[in-house]
Amino acid sequence: MGSGQVTSWQGKNITVAGLGVSGISAARALAGFGASVTVVDGGDNEGHRARAAELEAAGIAVRLADAETLPEGTDLVVTSPGWKPDSPLFAAAAKAGVDVVGDVEIAWQLRGENAAPWLAITGTNGKTTTTQMLASILKAAGLRTAAVGNIGTPIIDVVLQEGAYDVLAVELSSYQLHWAPSLRAHSAAVLNLAPDHLDWHGSMEAYAADKGRIYEGNTVACVYNVADRATEDLVVQADVEEGCRAIGFTLGAPGPSMLGVVDGILIDRAFVADRHKNAQELAQVEDVNPPAPHNIANALAAAALARAFGVEPRAVRDGLRNFRPDAHRVAYVDEVASVTYIDDSKATNTHAAEASLAAFEPVVWIAGGLAKGATFDELVRKSAKRLRAVVLIGADRALIAEALARHAPEVPVTDLDRTDTGAMLAAVREAARLAEPGDTVLLAPACASMDMFANYNKRGDAFADAVRELAAESA
Ligand code: ADP
Repeated sequence: MGSGQVTSWQGKNITVAGLGVSGISAARALAGFGASVTVVDGGDNEGHRARAAELEAAGIAVRLADAETLPEGTDLVVTSPGWKPDSPLFAAAAKAGVDVVGDVEIAWQLRGENAAPWLAITGTNGKTTTTQMLASILKAAGLRTAAVGNIGTPIIDVVLQEGAYDVLAVELSSYQLHWAPSLRAHSAAVLNLAPDHLDWHGSMEAYAADKGRIYEGNTVACVYNVADRATEDLVVQADVEEGCRAIGFTLGAPGPSMLGVVDGILIDRAFVADRHKNAQELAQVEDVNPPAPHNIANALAAAALARAFGVEPRAVRDGLRNFRPDAHRVAYVDEVASVTYIDDSKATNTHAAEASLAAFEPVVWIAGGLAKGATFDELVRKSAKRLRAVVLIGADRALIAEALARHAPEVPVTDLDRTDTGAMLAAVREAARLAEPGDTVLLAPACASMDMFANYNKRGDAFADAVRELAAESA
């Protein structure tokens, strides 16, 4: 197979997988560059037909109700995030000797000559938060930037706005990295590596290898997590430009070429004149929203990338102060009867739930949902001593109950045995009954939400509604 690198799009036959936001953006852009584009999608409902009609009006062919066979004469397949590498369409492409690439690869190739450099971020958890923090810091430095990749405007649309940006903060999922062979970021960070999406990647090794691609060809800094050895290993394995540095971030005191924390102050010992003797204060822990340990780690990673791009310390501080996290990420909901209620519905895997449990004590933990093949022993073992009690909801709650029985037999557990939407109010009432003044009730399900809710947003909203109802009752 070749590199997927295309020198001219004129007359190329390109098949785009999926009529989603990124597929549509890719199709329009490539057609604009003279390619002959066909979008294929397995669906065939009214919504699909409406979108197809719009594309067809722009001269783009659309084939509905068949996402499996490769259109005759295809030169290149452009995939959308979420399509599995073992999808029949890609198998057909491989068989025909046709390259498959993703939307990020296309964006990279469509960049103009003086395009804005990319500061790229991946990891199992914290990608969106860190990317937005980075964009906030870059803005505070007066740079024209946007948080893109898995978030915001499709990345292809952004790179086509030539001259509009000085630098981009780019969130990249392991899927997008898998399909982006020629991407070369200015600097990049891998925040952490824990098993997730293994059903998609096939193995932990394959998942790590895809994440590690983010470091390939970096020119200034490869940022890794000192507490997560696997991220440093990826830096060591990467083929980078001459002079590119490995920069660690740590919640402890930083060594030379690291950013870290000393006495509640975020410290830079990497981008200073004499890093063996000097250190630069960047911000206070209180400047980070919320100042939970995992989020301070995110802030350090964002700061490292900004500093690699030459941003002044003051802008790091101001950017962190200005940053507001998206909803459902360790979000404060309310205090009722001296108990604090926190919504971390976005903690959809065990690694994320472990990070948010580490930020509170004692905690009444509301958990459960779809486990996606995860096991809960390590999470429960590490968090057991913080737990006042646990309330379980959702389809796979028995898996968590069994881990609790094994590693925290003294912690009271209420198994609500419910998967209906109303179960959230019952869970919050039960958590309130189990909590003592000064405790935190934390929704950090460690599971996906789709057994009970449309998505994690709806699950978090249901939690907040239930807390409001509780507050009204106790007022
Ligand atoms: P992603 O974009 O990678 O899904 P988000 O920033 O949306 O990450 O955060 C997802 C969840 O992961 C949050 O709810 C939070 O609990 C958890 N989280 C955020 N940062 C970290 C981190 N550095 N380590 C572990 N968990 C984290």
